[in-house]
Parts: sequence; C-alpha cells; structure tokens
Amino acid sequence: MKAPKISSVSPQRRRTMQAIRSKNTKPEIFVRKLVHGLGFRFRLHHKGLHGSPDLAFIGRKKVIFVNGCFWHQHSGCPGCHVPKSKHAYWLPKLRRNVERDVANTAALRKAGWKVLTVWECELKNTKRLATRLQKFLA
Ligand SMILES: [Zn+2]
Repeated sequence: MKAPKISSVSPQRRRTMQAIRSKNTKPEIFVRKLVHGLGFRFRLHHKGLHGSPDLAFIGRKKVIFVNGCFWHQHSGCPGCHVPKSKHAYWLPKLRRNVERDVANTAALRKAGWKVLTVWECELKNTKRLATRLQKFLA
C-alpha cells in the first residue's frame, strides 16, 4: 500500500491523519475477515487498551495489530522505503509511530497481554497468515 496522498486534504484532517494510527484500513479488514473465518470473535479498537489494538480477544488476553509497512516502518521490508528527498518530512513522523508501537506493545505485554503484529506484506500469503493467526489465537 502506498502512503495516501495528503496534499488534497484539509490541514485539520491532515493533522488527524498524522496523529492517529489509521483505522479500518484494507489490510485490517482483510485480517478481520480471516480471523472471523477461523472462528474467533474479537473487539475492534478497544479504547481501554494501550494503542487501541485493531483486534482484541478479551477472554484470551490477546491482541493483534495490523500494521502498514510504510506507516509503521516494517524493518527490512521494501514497503517501508522512504525516498531520500522526503526524509526530512517523513522520518520524524514515522519514527514517532514506531516509538509509539514499541511503547504500546511493551505496556500490553507488561499487563499480561500477548501481542501479535501482522504486517501488510504478510497478506500476500493468505494460507501462511491464517496458520500464524490460528497458532497465535489457539
Ligand atoms: Zn512489510
């Protein structure tokens, strides 16, 4: 997924897009359907948990984050590439996202939650992803 064009949106909306992790993205909906198909039920964007995880399995004390490779800087993945000319603009914002992710995951783990991060690029191999999700949730 390419980073959305933000030139056409209002400054207000732009700030919002930059400040929060985007919800209901295509990868997220894909994972939700997959997990649902595996027979698991979950809560969406649970506000009471650090980082409002995309999927929360309360009884199992497990959460799943679905991360865009660009927005959350999937390390080593081609999807995280930022063109050199855009470094000054993007790197500080992306670094903040990554720091927030690390802090949220640490806080959740400390509170006894199991955390799984699904990366956007993992969606290409549905079978493998389904196995991974099943393993994590079982
Ligand atoms: Zn990736």
